Amino acid sequence: MNDAYYSFLIPSYNESDNIQLIHEALKEELGKINCNYEILFVDDGSEDDTFKKIHQLAKDHPSVKYVSFTRNFGKEAALLAGLRHARGDAVIIMDADLQHPTYLIGNLIEGFEEGFDQVVAKRNRDGDSRMRSFLSKIYYKWIDQVVDVKLKDGEGDFRLLSRKAVEAVLELSEGNRFSKGLFSWIGFDQKTVYYRNHIRGNGDSKWSYKKLINYGIEGIVSFNQKPLRVCLYGGLIIMFLALLYIFVMLVEIIRTGIDVPGYFSIISSVLFLGGVQLVSLGIIGEYVGRIYAETKRRPHYLIRDSNMDRDL
Ligand code: UDP
Ligand code: MG
Repeated sequence: MNDAYYSFLIPSYNESDNIQLIHEALKEELGKINCNYEILFVDDGSEDDTFKKIHQLAKDHPSVKYVSFTRNFGKEAALLAGLRHARGDAVIIMDADLQHPTYLIGNLIEGFEEGFDQVVAKRNRDGDSRMRSFLSKIYYKWIDQVVDVKLKDGEGDFRLLSRKAVEAVLELSEGNRFSKGLFSWIGFDQKTVYYRNHIRGNGDSKWSYKKLINYGIEGIVSFNQKPLRVCLYGGLIIMFLALLYIFVMLVEIIRTGIDVPGYFSIISSVLFLGGVQLVSLGIIGEYVGRIYAETKRRPHYLIRDSNMDRDL
């Protein structure tokens, strides 16, 4: 018997068909490991029967805890609420859709007992659509160059955080949360365990391509100002080229007189510069928008119901 207390944090949004299954799978695995634990479901404003199912489970099993949001605030908010409420010496974050195999829990706990503050489960991309794995690969290759923290393909939220690591994540109070980056930012000794990707249990992935793209942008702008610098350099280079062009044209005009058929070059440079300006404005807008959101200091989520102590 292991005397540490573990919290299993399960963000759930419209997972009514999975709640029972993940609970059973967890129970079975935890029976083998024989440790003290709580299973904390965060119902992220589900529109189906997810909350009903969780509520029923909590009635039948004292180890089941829940926090339920007033509406869908997103997985990041659900993770934050879970980390704030979890009381374990270590928190293990898992998806509700059975994509995170419970047989790995033993390995995660082993890592914790060896003294690691973060034990990360890393998956391969079996079963993901080709397009999605291809785009992810490119994104992670590229983001490695751009962002100051290390983000790795296949390392998601399925991980164990020690109490120290949880406290560290909770210290980061930003409104736009990008957990993957935050987990990497806090550092600590980290161990990786590997597993094969699993196809989702029931229901659909909540990630449309649109959501994924937004998540990708969040990953870039949450962690540095390099995109702004790219705009600055790009703008400077284009300005220099434009000046060079103007100079050459001036010399040409002085030498041979005014040349009328300049339509193409004017239109192309106007369009090109317009594009560059819009992109730069867009990037600046991303940051300004974030500053705006941060200054409002709105809570990350609102709780409708819970069987735990109130929020900090
Ligand atoms: N999730 C959530 N809020 C959301 C979207 C998703 O709490 O707005 C939960 C979802 O119920 C699941 C986990 O986050 O437990 C991962 O979601 P999903 O399986 O859709 O993502 P994928 O595995 O496709 O990355
Ligand atoms: Mg999933």
